[in-house]
Formats: sequence, structure tokens, C-alpha cells
Amino acid sequence: MPIAGNREELQSRHRAYERERSLVLGAGFAPLLFIYLMVHTRYLRPYVSESKSIALLELLILPAAWFAGMLLLYTWFGPIRHRLRCPRCAHRLVGTAITAALETGSCANCGARLVSQPTV
Ligand SMILES: [Zn+2]
Repeated sequence: MPIAGNREELQSRHRAYERERSLVLGAGFAPLLFIYLMVHTRYLRPYVSESKSIALLELLILPAAWFAGMLLLYTWFGPIRHRLRCPRCAHRLVGTAITAALETGSCANCGARLVSQPTV
């Protein structure tokens, strides 16, 4: 069963996915940027541990893990939220897969029809 009426609908859904991905990446990167900007000021000092390994964890590892977590979560959740997954094989329709889907109207992975009106 197709997931979109036509290619324009599929394309606008993909654009919404990409817009939201930018916001998610911004939210994921914000703590790293904040720490980078604040690390040499006196404002962050009271919150940073004296122990070097715990300070490294607080200033680098946790914010980087947050960023990676946001990225992975959206990679999984974004296509579901915007209905950009093949109904037959659950392939994510992003990157080269959405390009192929917009050209052919079908899933590049399994060939399932994704749009009900391929030529509009
Ligand atoms: Zn498929």
C-alpha cells in the first residue's frame, strides 16, 4: 500500500523531516557549544569537578554522548514520525533512498510502490 498520494507529498514530508533534523542537531550540539564557550570563564568553574577524569566526563564525554544520542534517536525516530519508511521492508526513505523514491515512485530496496500517482 502506497504511503503518499503523489511525489510532491512525499517530497514535502521529506523536507519537514530535514527541517526538524536541523533543529534536533542544533539541540544536540548546543551543550557542546555552550561548554566550549564557557570553559575558560569563571562561570563554569563551580560546577566542574576537581578530578580530571570526572571533569573530562562532565565537559566532553556526556555532552558528546548527548549529541550522538540525539543523532541516533532522530535517525530512528524521524523517518517513523514523518512516515518516511517503506511499508513493505521498513527501509528508511532518507538520503539516496528518498532520491530514488522520488524518481521512480518505488522503494529502491524492495521495489514496493510508495506513491499512488507516480506521474503528477
Ligand atoms: Zn521497501
